[in-house]
Amino acid sequence: MRAAVYQGAQRFEIQDLPTPEPGPGQVLVKVNRSAICGTDVHAFMYDIAPAGSVIGHEIAGVVAQVGPEVTRLSEGQRVVAGGGDPPPGVSSPMRTGPRYSYRTMGFTGGATGGYAEYQLLPEWRPTVIPDNVPDEVAALTEPCSVAVRAVRRSAIRLGDTVAVLGAGPIGMLVVQAAMAAGATRVLVSEPAPARAAAAMDLGADAVINPVEEDAVARLVELTDGHGPEVVFDCAGLQDTLQQAFDATRRNGQVVLVAVPWEPLPVDPVDWMGREVDFRVSFASDPEDWRIALDLLSSGRISAEALMSEASFIDLEEIQEAFEGLMRPSSQLQVVINL
Ligand SMILES: [Zn+2]
Repeated sequence: MRAAVYQGAQRFEIQDLPTPEPGPGQVLVKVNRSAICGTDVHAFMYDIAPAGSVIGHEIAGVVAQVGPEVTRLSEGQRVVAGGGDPPPGVSSPMRTGPRYSYRTMGFTGGATGGYAEYQLLPEWRPTVIPDNVPDEVAALTEPCSVAVRAVRRSAIRLGDTVAVLGAGPIGMLVVQAAMAAGATRVLVSEPAPARAAAAMDLGADAVINPVEEDAVARLVELTDGHGPEVVFDCAGLQDTLQQAFDATRRNGQVVLVAVPWEPLPVDPVDWMGREVDFRVSFASDPEDWRIALDLLSSGRISAEALMSEASFIDLEEIQEAFEGLMRPSSQLQVVINL
């Protein structure tokens, strides 16, 4: 099978690897679409993906072969690579490790292997894709589940005004999940014109350009001098977390969704007098995947809005795609066809 093998030092190489054989309790999935995740771009950019590994976890495919003792899935079923509950005794260090650190433990386990023609998975992990959800949409179930988790962990209530800083794929999905959760107005801060336009198409009330305007002043002005109830930082850049705190209204909440890989300056004296709460949301659990698939299937969240014809690339173009995604860009979602 063809696979993009990470070589270290920001290099992928397309290699012909043996197609894995499913062992007991395993299924082999033929990957049809594999979306490029911002987390993987970070793993590439900061060179933390292990050399020799195949990363990628946002796939939609079809069960090609089942191993012995597999009862839950059968050949021909379309699946995504998550959403199933682990059996008793199987737990992820991400949720159970008492001193879990994403920096040191984040790229050593889990369901990776998506930038390849086939992926081997334990049979409990995949979820069957509803018939009305095409592969390219289903491939975004994982990022959608991250947005679902962030919104479910937030304090959003019906009628709230919410701000989303950063309209990359996760920000765009948080915009929609926030509206599905009852936010009646969503304000977005995003400098890239294509992403700003896509956010407006999704129903954002206003998109602020934080390079040309004072994002905090605009967010406060657009909320009658109070600030939004909840601000999601989906950018994790040098100034966005401080902007989130500065903009949030008294007793409001900041939710950090993006994973910053560098220290971020924050100046609490400016906002702690308003008793702003802080929450983080990290990755997602199987339940979040199932909710995400339901929202995609019912049309309450659109993944199509994140894609255009330019979104789809071949595996051979992965190097170029990752290099492009390292720079602030106007790309929306990039999806590999396999
Ligand atoms: Zn992802």
